Amino acid sequence: MDLAQPVGELKGIGPKTTEILKKYGIRTVRDFFYNLPRDYENFSAPISIADMRPGKVVIRGKIDRISTRRAKRRNLSITEGVICDGTGSVKVVWFNQSYRAKQFDPAREYYFMGSFELKNGRYSLISPSAALVSDIDPSVGLNPIYVAHGALKSNDFKRLINNSRDRFAQIPDLLPTVEPGKRKDALFNVHFPSSIESVQKSREYLAYEELFELILAAKLNRQENEKLKALPLKFKLDSIQDFLKVLPFALTGAQKRAAWDIFQDLEKDTPMNRLLQGDVGSGKTMVAALSAYQAIIDGAQVALLAPTAILATQHYEGLHKLLTQFGIKVILLTGATKHKVELKKDIADGRINFVIGTHALLTDDTEFKNLGLVIIDEQHRFGVEQRQKLALKSPRGLAPHLLAMTATPIPRSLQLTIFGDLDVSILNELPKGRRPITTHILQGIEVKSRLYPQIQETIKNGQQVYWVCKAIDDDARSETTSVKSRAAKLKTLFPKMNIEFLHGRMKPGEKDEIMARFSRGEIQILVSTTVIEVGVDVPNATLMIIENAESYGLAQLHQLRGRVGRGNKASACYLLTSDDMQPSRRLRELEKSTDGFHLAEVDLKLRGPGEIYGALQHGALDLRIATLSDTKLIHRAQNDVSNFLQAPENMLKYKELMQGITKYQQITTLN
Ligand code: ADP
Ligand code: MG
Repeated sequence: MDLAQPVGELKGIGPKTTEILKKYGIRTVRDFFYNLPRDYENFSAPISIADMRPGKVVIRGKIDRISTRRAKRRNLSITEGVICDGTGSVKVVWFNQSYRAKQFDPAREYYFMGSFELKNGRYSLISPSAALVSDIDPSVGLNPIYVAHGALKSNDFKRLINNSRDRFAQIPDLLPTVEPGKRKDALFNVHFPSSIESVQKSREYLAYEELFELILAAKLNRQENEKLKALPLKFKLDSIQDFLKVLPFALTGAQKRAAWDIFQDLEKDTPMNRLLQGDVGSGKTMVAALSAYQAIIDGAQVALLAPTAILATQHYEGLHKLLTQFGIKVILLTGATKHKVELKKDIADGRINFVIGTHALLTDDTEFKNLGLVIIDEQHRFGVEQRQKLALKSPRGLAPHLLAMTATPIPRSLQLTIFGDLDVSILNELPKGRRPITTHILQGIEVKSRLYPQIQETIKNGQQVYWVCKAIDDDARSETTSVKSRAAKLKTLFPKMNIEFLHGRMKPGEKDEIMARFSRGEIQILVSTTVIEVGVDVPNATLMIIENAESYGLAQLHQLRGRVGRGNKASACYLLTSDDMQPSRRLRELEKSTDGFHLAEVDLKLRGPGEIYGALQHGALDLRIATLSDTKLIHRAQNDVSNFLQAPENMLKYKELMQGITKYQQITTLN
């Protein structure tokens, strides 16, 4: 069977269903079979109603007297009924699931799984899931649950998959490295489970398959890159020494090592493809400056791209001052730049050595005369295709060297797989004199008693404060305080202070203006959404307050915290959370540690890679199953991929595999 054929070829999938599936990225038979259950309900051991105790229960019975009514509170519907099983009866309640009223046939038996609890003075079964007894293999009792896609609910997926049950036997093998038939058995078993253990085994195979594809894609990317030609850029010791002399500080050991890696890469005639990883404040910009300097004195142009105009501006302000001393022409090119046409002409003619801008610079019409090095801040990866395009633009067909920088620590297991095509340098050492940031979780009354005095103290000392909120505007349905109302509240609390707010929906010019004023110390408290997240450098800011801290990921909290502690003054970070919640493990870890790499590993364990790299899941790289903390499986896949590549004919032979990985090869942006 050809898995690449359209999903509409399957029994029972007509044009309407095809349309919906397409919206959710399910186009081919392969996509459909790989749309795996998110979970399984275990109905294998129902108890009788007479034996129910409060808590989670599974029962089996018929349902009767079911009806829906509207609650007084708007937008709430309540569906109620009675379940009987011969030993007794129990009231059942669903909220906002009015379709339940029509779901059941009073003559048939269903399983119900839900919470048996006291509600309005009476024990009821609350919002149980339900399945027809006759639909579930009694010897197994497992009910696969699929993620709903629009009008297609879990049960619809079950029905559709069931229609194709006999097609699974025809699924061809994908990989040469496992026993024949393993793939079809694994896919069958996750959709039609025979036991929890067998589901786990099957998922492990599918995870292996996925890792194999990821690693293969990364290795092929590396090979493609190595085929490109680049302009070698010479290392000149004297010039570098002159440069180091003007710096107000000595480089850290880690900065020297990273710079040395880069100098050597730049001298080669294949393009550098290096990721510079360093925690916030570790001094990545200086390493970038050194790299740019080497490229420019050897006659190349350099582009530095940041994710936002604010960050581009900051880079410009720091680097412009430093580099003009050496006669280097640096410009800033963002949406707000005036005289763009003239500047672009100067870039094309090679009169400008160093262009700093946003990522858009590479996709717009900017032409370079001799682009030798591209530095990308906070974007992990740069697709081969993009690079090839740049090479085509360049008069001699040369591809630029690439240095990507990130403050998001990438656990080693991720490095081996997703980032396998990059060389990595790590800045694991903070510049001397940095004082660690102290972190505290605050709840309830402590906000007034501890935080407000701390704000006053900070400002009295001439230092500045960030206050991060989740939302831009107020929303009646949620209890989170918005940027706007937080700023207003703080103004009444601290009438003498300069308080401003910043968020992503403001015009670029306005944002830059606010950031510039904050940098100059004219604003004391900056209330902001996470737009200040990456890279902003105001060493005089020493207090970071994060409201609704529980709603952010660990990596993001760590990034936000890194906005303070950038000078030689003591800094603090306060995590505010809802009063009625135990602080989560994530927040407690953050309180204990300021080591980004440690926190990344913890996060990987707590939440899985898809969550850390939130964008990955929504983007092209959707890890279905593989847990990247499974190093054993990763190593096995790595070995097997290496062997696979030893035999070049494999690439022709395993067509489906090779087609499948093109999506991984095209990824250009990971955040
Ligand atoms: P990040 O890695 O977060 O991008 P930056 O490059 O913005 O860090 O550096 C943070 C601050 O540390 C900047 O103000 C920079 O000038 C300063 N800095 C960089 N390297 C050193 C060093 N070796 N010694 C002291 N300060 C340094
Ligand atoms: Mg930075």
